[in-house]
Amino acid sequence: MKIVLYTDLDGTLLDLYNYSCEVALPALAMLKRRKIPVVFCTAKTLAENEYYREELGIRDPFIVENGGAIFIPQGYFSFVFHYTKEMKHYYVIEFGARYEELRAALNAIRAETGFKIKGFGDMTAEEVAKDANLSIEKAKLAKDKTYNESFIFDEPAEKEKILFEKIREKGFSLTHGGRYYNIHGRDADKGKAVKVLTELFRREYGAVKTVGIGDSRNDIAMLEAVDQPAVVRRKDGTWLELPLKNLYKARGEGPEGWVEVVNKFVIMT
Ligand SMILES: [Mg+2]
Repeated sequence: MKIVLYTDLDGTLLDLYNYSCEVALPALAMLKRRKIPVVFCTAKTLAENEYYREELGIRDPFIVENGGAIFIPQGYFSFVFHYTKEMKHYYVIEFGARYEELRAALNAIRAETGFKIKGFGDMTAEEVAKDANLSIEKAKLAKDKTYNESFIFDEPAEKEKILFEKIREKGFSLTHGGRYYNIHGRDADKGKAVKVLTELFRREYGAVKTVGIGDSRNDIAMLEAVDQPAVVRRKDGTWLELPLKNLYKARGEGPEGWVEVVNKFVIMT
């Protein structure tokens, strides 16, 4: 049976602090040899996804900005399907809200509550670089957002509930990706995008088994949407807790846990 691997990037395939995935390179090479699709399913932007696709030689579709859109390389599937628009050499299926609307909602919440909220759109590339431990070049790619705004919420944890309520009131959703909070469209979550893309894989290959790997709350919808969900260990030694019966918890942290999951559920099967 065709296996499709959905993977989060930050804190999962990539180390949360230094963004390295060196330990995963042999497993990635094996997946490529076996023609197993590796679908990035991440909070990262189109530009950042393209950077890592190039770096790792991945040619499969990918899901950007927490489910904001699916990018499918033209010619990847052999049949015609519905898409929102064509862009560069991709067919794009969009789910997300517009970035300007998300920015406006955050500004309104800041005015209503006085919360210390700082979005990527409020920061220079230099500030994002420093805060996220990125090069200036990569910070520019991270700021190039379309469907999702990442932000720092500098308030005590108990205020998070109010933030959540306010975002819902305004018609949007909130997720946390391990490093940043994200505001995005209500229809845009990783799970919905995974389901739509998996249907396309089924049309191409017939029976498909999906495996999903994540580490944080913004991965929950993706993990619920796959046949075999798995989480890697986080920097603080914990795992994302999820009431999923067959959830696999990798012993390894970040990319080391990723390799463990791929060996167990993708390469060995
Ligand atoms: Mg993550």
